[in-house]
This record gives sequence, structure tokens and C-alpha cells, in this order.
Amino acid sequence: MSRSRLQLAAVYLAVIGVILYGAGLGMFGLLMRSNWSALEREVETVAGTLHDSLKPLLPAEARPSPQLAAVLPGLCLVGSPCQPAPSLIPRHAVSITDSERFYLRLLDPRGALIAHSPGSPRVKAERPGPTWMVVAGLGGDRFLQYSIHLHHSHTPAHPGANAQELDWGYLQIGRSLSGLDAERQRLWWATQTIVVLALLVAGLASWWLSGLAMRPLLAAYRQQEQFTADAAHELRAPLANLLAVVEAHKTQLSADPLAGEHALAVVYGQGQRLSRLISDLLLLARLDGPEAGAGLQSCSLTQIARDLLEETSEGASIAEVQLRLQGGDDDLNVLGVESELYRLVSNMLLNAIQYTPSGGEVVLSLKREGSHGLLEVQDSGIGITPADQQRIFDRFFRSDPGRSRRQGGTGLGLSIVAAIVRRHRGAITVRSDGHSGSCFTVTLPLAANSPGLPVPR
Ligand code: ADP
Repeated sequence: MSRSRLQLAAVYLAVIGVILYGAGLGMFGLLMRSNWSALEREVETVAGTLHDSLKPLLPAEARPSPQLAAVLPGLCLVGSPCQPAPSLIPRHAVSITDSERFYLRLLDPRGALIAHSPGSPRVKAERPGPTWMVVAGLGGDRFLQYSIHLHHSHTPAHPGANAQELDWGYLQIGRSLSGLDAERQRLWWATQTIVVLALLVAGLASWWLSGLAMRPLLAAYRQQEQFTADAAHELRAPLANLLAVVEAHKTQLSADPLAGEHALAVVYGQGQRLSRLISDLLLLARLDGPEAGAGLQSCSLTQIARDLLEETSEGASIAEVQLRLQGGDDDLNVLGVESELYRLVSNMLLNAIQYTPSGGEVVLSLKREGSHGLLEVQDSGIGITPADQQRIFDRFFRSDPGRSRRQGGTGLGLSIVAAIVRRHRGAITVRSDGHSGSCFTVTLPLAANSPGLPVPR
């Protein structure tokens, strides 16, 4: 059982683990996506601002020239040594002076490099129009690079004429991804740690949940085990008696015929007991099985009660017990299986007669209560103690095993009654003060065609 619990816990943990891990990865992906978008927006804004600032200042020709060096003092011109400058477009883009985080590259319209920030990565960068790419820097850092067309606004030759915007070349701006990469690393480890911790908690929860789920299974399994042991025990007793008689008779074959007859009677009696036990067990197994929709019919509880009173009246008069029917004028119809309802009433009546001493009385009463029929078997017998009232519906339970066995009871009568009541969606209760008389009450839902029931609209 603990192996099954472990397996169940492992399945729970695997399912929870997949969900947790998936959720963790999803969260990680979303956070990274939003960081990336923020970075793209930042680079786009800086690029746009730079573009607008450079447009009126650019020299007419896109080539490394002293005029260009004057506009962008911080950049290295291609073909000349780099001159470090204190700042680059300080008015608009303070942050891109941070050469650790940003670099700039200017390209002519054919894509040839004209100027670049000192230390900017060497990339083949001809890119027409706005383009994103990730490039590796000299120190191994990664940069997010954005390329846009650079325009040059030409001052009109004479006042009043429209200003012209000409294609000048390309501006490439790169933003270091080292911060983002470090953030990714941090988030990745945080996700892993949280998922591992959550899995540890989920492992404990899975063990507890599997225990909870196994509890009813375990109870059913123990009940089944107990039932098998009890059934084997009950079957073994008559069989042992039967074999003992046959064995004894075999050794004294020539003895007198009366002994033979007695042996046969014992064998027959034990055989009958065995047969009763087996058919009760089979009936219980059938009642425990899935409900059969077919075979249900409207049965008159009143008629069944009358029939059984008649059938048991002989046994009652032998036991000197008075038997009578109370109520039963109404025809109470129940939707069910007739043979099972016969068995239900007969088991209760026979018990009442069996456990009532001579001179006592058994009353079977029938009445309607709303949409339910009430069947009560009241006797003035030996009664049932409160402790036994909790157990009399258990299989093979007998309050007084010696007496019951003598009278041929299997200990299955009331468990069959309870199973039939369950099958008919009813309820059964028992009342007794423990020493004088018991009353069994069965409540069953009435069939729609039962006289007196409100007609459904
Ligand atoms: P059995 O076949 O032994 O009668 P049941 O399941 O019908 O088995 O009943 C279980 C036990 O309940 C009986 O052994 C008996 O002790 C007790 N019992 C059942 N009905 C009555 C009753 N009417 N009065 C007193 N005891 C009863």
C-alpha cells in the first residue's frame, strides 16, 4: 500500500512539477520579453533624437571630413586616428556618451563605414532601412544594434524656398546587452530556485494528498480482506461438519440403517446451509455491482407485504408469535426490482419472528409520507443493544453468534436488506431500547404512478 501511495505521490508531483516549471518558464519569458521591448524603445528614442539633431548639422557629403569631425567630435573618422572627445551630442543624448553602453556608427549610402565610436564592434553593417540586429562587441559583450536612414536637411539657397531632405547615409546605434544578460541570468536562477523550492513543498503536499486519496481505497481494501476471511470461515464450518459426517459414515458402512439416515440428514442440512450462504454471497455481489436500469418495474409494496405476511404466518404461529399488518389500505408503488423488494421485507419479517420469544408480537405497518412509502417492522423481541445497532448491517455480524448459528442465520440478512434499500435510493433505520423490542423502518421513494402522488406537470 505504501508503494502505491508513493507511486500516486510521484504522479501528483510529476503533474504539479510540469505545471510549475511551465508557469515558471512562461513568467521568465514574459519578463524577458518586456525587458527587451523596453530596451528597443530606448534605442529607438535615442536614434530618433540623434537623427533629428544631426540632420541640420551634417555636411553635404557623406565622407570622413573635418566638417563631420566637428559635428561629431567623439567619433573616430575612418582613415584617421581616433581623437577622444569629452562628449557626443551632449544636448540630446547624454546617455550615449557612455561608451560602455552605447556606440555609434555612420555609413555612407553604399553602406561603407565613415565614422564610429571608439571601441564599437566591427560588423558588416550594410542595412537598408530600419533594422535590428544583435552583434558581438570586441570584449565579447553583446549589443543590440539599430540602423536607420540618416537624412540631411539642405538649407534653401534663397529665403522662401522649401527646405529639402536628402538621403545622407545610415546611422547605426548599438546598445550594450550586458545589463539585460545579467538580468536574464539573475531571473533564470531566481526562477530555478523558486521552482525547486515549490517542488519541495509540492512533494510534501503530494505525499499528504496521496494519503488522503488512498484512505477510502485502503478502507475498501481492508473491508474486502475482512469479507474474504469471514466468507472463507463461514464456508469452512459447514463443509468441515459435512466432511466429518461422511468420513465417520465411511468407516462404519455396515452399521445400522438409522445411523446412515441420520448422516444423510446432517449432510443435507449442511449442504443447504452452504447453498444458502453461497446464494447470499452471490446476491450481495450482484447488489454491489453496477445498477441495472433494465428490470425496474412498478411494484406494489402493499401487495408484497400482504404476500409475505401470508407466507410467514405459518412460521410465526409455530414460534407462537402474533403477526399482523397495520395500515396497508393505500397502494404504495415503488419503482424497483420485485424479487429484491420481496427479499427485503422477508428478511426483516423473518428476523423479527426469529428474535421474538413465544407470546410476542410482530407488527408490519405501511404508510405514505409525502413522496415516500414507509415500511416498518416492529417486534416485541429481545431488542438490540445500542452498540450492536451500529454493526448489525455489517456483513457476517451477529450479536449472538451461538444463537444465530443454531437458527441457521448467515449473518448476511441485514446487509442484504441495506444493499437493496441503497439500490432503491431509500433509507433504513433501527430503533431499540436494547432489551425489549426493535423497530426497523425502511423509507423508499414512491413511483410516479403511485396513487395519491401529485401528478407531475
Ligand atoms: P442473521 O442471519 O444472523 O439473522 P442478520 O444480518 O439478519 O443475520 O442479522 C444480524 C444480527 O442482528 C443478528 O445476528 C441479530 O443478532 C440481530 N438482529 C437482527 N434482527 C433483529 C431483531 N429483529 N431483533 C433482535 N436482534 C436482531
